[in-house]
Amino acid sequence: MPEEETTPPIVKEEEIAVEKKPSAREVDMSSWTPKTDLGKRVKGGEFSDINQVIDAGKKIKETEIIDALLPGMETDLLLIGQSKGKFGGGKRRIFRQTQKKTQEGNKPHFLALAVVGNRDGYVGLGAGKAKETVPAREKAYRKAKLSIIKIRRGCGSWQCGCKTGHSIPFKVSGKCGSIEIVFMPAPKGTGLKAEKECQKILRLAGITDIWSKTRGTTTTKLNVMYACFDALKKLMDTKIKSEDYEKMGIVEGNQK
Ligand SMILES: [Zn+2]
Repeated sequence: MPEEETTPPIVKEEEIAVEKKPSAREVDMSSWTPKTDLGKRVKGGEFSDINQVIDAGKKIKETEIIDALLPGMETDLLLIGQSKGKFGGGKRRIFRQTQKKTQEGNKPHFLALAVVGNRDGYVGLGAGKAKETVPAREKAYRKAKLSIIKIRRGCGSWQCGCKTGHSIPFKVSGKCGSIEIVFMPAPKGTGLKAEKECQKILRLAGITDIWSKTRGTTTTKLNVMYACFDALKKLMDTKIKSEDYEKMGIVEGNQK
């Protein structure tokens, strides 16, 4: 996202503190009137498993589809903004402020990045931009839900070899801008050895042990997050030999 970044201190700290803890946003299914064909088939019960939707490569355009097929998703906002502190490194914030110079003057915009996941094989990442903080956050949640991907987990660590889905089965890398992230399988008990905001994505994806390497200018947190998500997408891209499924205890989404 190439945008000029400036950080005027417009948002008050108290405001941010309240917005950090969003309430659960489950939808009452009976009041949902599906607008897309897929939505109608989900509400009608034709699709009752998220894997049917993802495996068929269907594009999800209604968040209610996720609410119906993956209830209990957790959400979090990633710290992508930074205020310019008087003494150098400022505090990380959940909103990044950008300013557009127009004829009427400077127009501030807020950008938020949200992650949603069920801690069990499904995760999504989405950005939202708006003139106010609340709609930016809501857009980000919506987009994150609509971008849900299936995560292939497993134990690809030769030191561990426990045949469960606590880590990843093999090394993957992801890119965004100048950033490149490499994730590597790690033995049980390692924890998430990754950048702090990446940990949120990994945790909500259901991964508990991982090693990582990051290359590039990591001051652009947004690119780091997108590179992280890009790497996770690649887990499903690699073809796996049938014998390796058992050997590495591979779990795809929530299925063994
Ligand atoms: Zn293991």
